[in-house]
Amino acid sequence: MNATYEPLSVVTAPKALTLVWRQVAEVLELDKGNILRSPRFVFDVPSVIRLTHYIDIRSRQNRVTNRHRILSRDHYRCQYCGLKGTVFDLTLDHILPRSRGGRTLAENLVTACKDCNNRKGNRTPEEARMPLLTNPSALYYGLERLALQRSADARPEWRKYLFLDHADEIEESVSTG
Ligand SMILES: [Zn+2]
Repeated sequence: MNATYEPLSVVTAPKALTLVWRQVAEVLELDKGNILRSPRFVFDVPSVIRLTHYIDIRSRQNRVTNRHRILSRDHYRCQYCGLKGTVFDLTLDHILPRSRGGRTLAENLVTACKDCNNRKGNRTPEEARMPLLTNPSALYYGLERLALQRSADARPEWRKYLFLDHADEIEESVSTG
């Protein structure tokens, strides 16, 4: 997790231990009973770690979330059916729905016609069988996020860190403030 407790990604146990060893991250939860041995040391394997310094993933990712710029990025074409439209009849779709943890970031937003947006509803593109025409990085973002949530099913200690209901609102108030 980021220093702000925002989930970032899943890393291997050795990678997590290296980050903690270098004091880049601190351990929040241990993977109970699981240890890693080196020739000289025995380490408790962490399950949740948090970076000690904030990294600004919003500046690393494309921070454009302005509606017109997303439409322009997608060439005013519905990214599900390919229909070309205008700013008046196209909508923005959260690839991973907001209700399921999808963020309002450029990587999680695509241009969709109203029909496709309604049809997709509260589902991922995979669940709706509506593959994206382009923008695989956006698709990847959605999948990564979903993978985190699925992993959480097997790791109850992750849950309290993953389901931050108001994360989007906080983010938006920060970015507009
Ligand atoms: Zn469409």
